[in-house]
Amino acid sequence: MAERHDAVSVIMTKRDGGTLSDDQIDWVVDAYTRGVVADEQMSSLAMAIYQRGMNRTEIARWTAAMIASGERLDFTDLGIPTADKHSTGGVGDKITLPLAPLVAVFGVGVPQLSGRGLGHTGGTLDKLESIPGWRADMSNAAMRQQLLDVGAVICAAGTGLAPADKKLYALRDVTGTVESIPMISASIMSKKIAEGTGVLVLDVKVGSGAFMKNIEDARELARTMVDLGTDAGVVTTALLTDMSTPLGRGIGNAMEVTESVEVLAGGGPADVVELTVELARAMLEGAGITDADPAAALKDGRAMDKWRQMIESQGGDVDAPMPVAPIVEEVRAEADGYITRLDAMGAGIAAWRLGAGRARKDDVLDLSAGVFLHKTLGDEVRKGDVIMTLHAESADRMPRGLAALGEACDGAGTVEIGSAAVKRNIILDRIGGSAPDATTPGTATER
Ligand code: URA
Repeated sequence: MAERHDAVSVIMTKRDGGTLSDDQIDWVVDAYTRGVVADEQMSSLAMAIYQRGMNRTEIARWTAAMIASGERLDFTDLGIPTADKHSTGGVGDKITLPLAPLVAVFGVGVPQLSGRGLGHTGGTLDKLESIPGWRADMSNAAMRQQLLDVGAVICAAGTGLAPADKKLYALRDVTGTVESIPMISASIMSKKIAEGTGVLVLDVKVGSGAFMKNIEDARELARTMVDLGTDAGVVTTALLTDMSTPLGRGIGNAMEVTESVEVLAGGGPADVVELTVELARAMLEGAGITDADPAAALKDGRAMDKWRQMIESQGGDVDAPMPVAPIVEEVRAEADGYITRLDAMGAGIAAWRLGAGRARKDDVLDLSAGVFLHKTLGDEVRKGDVIMTLHAESADRMPRGLAALGEACDGAGTVEIGSAAVKRNIILDRIGGSAPDATTPGTATER
């Protein structure tokens, strides 16, 4: 069959700053999925889009074409509201683990199709695989049944969902074209719309450890995604949240599961609890539930009960001990004062090099590896106090992990100690729903 366009003219349209027609977009996404458009042609088009951008009409069409490349799930016949959360990726971001069971406590189904980490950001499935026996892969039928029986399911997105994005994301990852607002928006929203959730809350990260380094770019990304979701009939809200400092104390797969269980037991670090509760509220509000008290459900054991059911129904042994790394190195404070910077990117790369993340798709992770923050932003320290510990399965990982800490922030290092206490704002803005006053990401001197 003759093709109705050719890749070179589509590339040249965008290269020269033109607007892609609906038919060019439909064709190029479909032809790339079929293997008619070659990887080198798609990477050239991705670079042209990275440089020239896409307008809202092009982004919406690109998203629709990626949805149309695969199957579309539908949970409306289950008779329960459904809500999902998507984070654009951060360091120590384990929020999905306590959040999914917490929202399910209130009768809202959470079909959380998650991914694996690549680079310095961790993946939810990798974290859960620290639990012996837990299985990420589920059929659509098993997933629907678990939604009915338990209310929450976290599993791998099947290969049938937006296959065009799967192929294109892998290509963007190795061609320097990930950080494009049109392509990130279309990538995330094609998967989320195809997944069939009724409500979607986007956690758009801002700061050194995020794709979006400044609040203006994060707002544009959030606004674009909220519009795409709303136009597709999904009740969509975005919270812009700080990722200049890691979330919580544990960065690394098993450590993040342990910390999530602490939160589900009514404890855990304040920032993780705050973000979990705020995201739960936004998901529940989207589902029309405005009188729920998610903080209480963390304290009284209801969310923990759901967690146990959710993990056990996917084969996980909730009571099994977590893997522990045999090699531990301490990093100590070099002066008295307050921690005025604890850079998310530096800590994330250190954890990654220690074995918590992969450099290639097929790398096997060290589930016990990572960084534990004994002190974090705003804490007072005395010279010699342990600020963090680095954990690895083999000693030869340590030098590169330690080096990552020193290389961060253009060589200024991951940790800065100053004389004035700083306070962190976690929630920076909200797009869709009521918007609080915007603040700047990162730190603010305490008054
Ligand atoms: N996450 C995605 O799913 N896609 C992107 O393009 C970036 C982050």
